[in-house]
Amino acid sequence: MKNLINTSICFFVFTIVSFGQTIVDVINQVNIDSLTLTIREFSGEEQTIVNGNAVTILNRQQANNDLAADYLVQRFQEYNNLTVVDQPFNTNGRNIIATQLGQTSPNNIYMICAHYDSVANYCADDNASGTTAVIEIARILSEQCLDNTIVYALWDEEEIGLLGSNFYANLAQANGDNILGVLNIDMMGYDGDNDNDFDVDVRQGDTGSIGMGNDVVAILNNPAYGFNLNVNVVNPGTSASDHASFWNRGFPAVLVGESWENNDQTPFYHSSGDRFSTLDLPYYHQLTKIIMGYMVTKGGLVNFSNLVTVNSNVLTANQVGANYQWINCDNNMPIAGETNQSFTATVTGNYAVQITSGSCTETSDCIELDLLGVEDFEILENVNIYPNPATSTLNIDLPNYKTAQYKILNINGKTVLSNLMKNKTESINISSIAQGVYFIELIVDKKIATLKFIKN
Ligand SMILES: [Zn+2]
Repeated sequence: MKNLINTSICFFVFTIVSFGQTIVDVINQVNIDSLTLTIREFSGEEQTIVNGNAVTILNRQQANNDLAADYLVQRFQEYNNLTVVDQPFNTNGRNIIATQLGQTSPNNIYMICAHYDSVANYCADDNASGTTAVIEIARILSEQCLDNTIVYALWDEEEIGLLGSNFYANLAQANGDNILGVLNIDMMGYDGDNDNDFDVDVRQGDTGSIGMGNDVVAILNNPAYGFNLNVNVVNPGTSASDHASFWNRGFPAVLVGESWENNDQTPFYHSSGDRFSTLDLPYYHQLTKIIMGYMVTKGGLVNFSNLVTVNSNVLTANQVGANYQWINCDNNMPIAGETNQSFTATVTGNYAVQITSGSCTETSDCIELDLLGVEDFEILENVNIYPNPATSTLNIDLPNYKTAQYKILNINGKTVLSNLMKNKTESINISSIAQGVYFIELIVDKKIATLKFIKN
């Protein structure tokens, strides 16, 4: 699902802040509201829709978590550029795996993973927190072209012996997968003493794992990112979560999460008291951003823009020299013939652009353009402008007269004339403006009608 950004063509010319293009931009797209909604849905605090039904995901115990697994499949399928695999490994066990293929080095694989099963109701910290962070990072990173492949993995049956991750790591070893780093998250939302400490658990004597720990510390300490958490690198780290399945098969892996090292893990561990309300959201948000920083750095961000500039009703992709296809977000269909860098909307709707250069394709946010038509507003009903085209005088006729403001904008959205309408019919001298296409806006009670005319 793309973010919907509301704009109005009526007043402003501005740039939409969309998916970013630098590492710090991508880090800063990690959104606390998005995290909050997902973790609340996934830990039974509020209803969500799964397979078209309104449901509450209260419990994710192993024999009872198909609803949770279906939710995860559905979430990954909402994003572009991911291949989603529902991987059963025993009667009840289902890993949910999404793969984003690298553009230049698809055989170089970095994994971000978390277990989604639980031992009781709710279990927000253990481990809806890690699961949600994986989804949030997938939401954002899936819109970026990366050199390397990212695998987003959500494991089942961690709580009864790391079964899901063991199954996967076995296959990966047999396939000879070139996994260069596995970042496992298990419990990352609790900071009871508010000291902002978190743990990175590495494997003693394992240069790959220790190197990953160093890389996470480097992200934390990069002044450009502005983090204020503190890290304990735990060596030897615990083997009590899914990263151990990868350690045991020679893959570099770490565990990132709240601080067991400082004895500051959730006191509601493995109980139905482990609920959303006990989490520290700013801490959780920052820790997710640090993990995003690691993933986007290792993924190898390709310098390619999917930003769009909005200029009145004209949308322009910032990326030059690419191939473009404009899309109607309301039906998710390409708009026939709209393959230029700019697109002029003629009707109210939601629009995005798919930008392709070489093997790299990115999609912009959906941008809502509200081309408020005269028919929308009683007061603006039957408004008429004439003649059209006009040469020296343009008349506006507003039958249901009320004090109104008019603005004449050129094709770039710049206001060239503006005044109040003092009568039901106003004659505007337009002899001073250049020939071309213009828009006239009538503004009544903050409602706006936009009409197009031509100056000859
Ligand atoms: Zn756990």
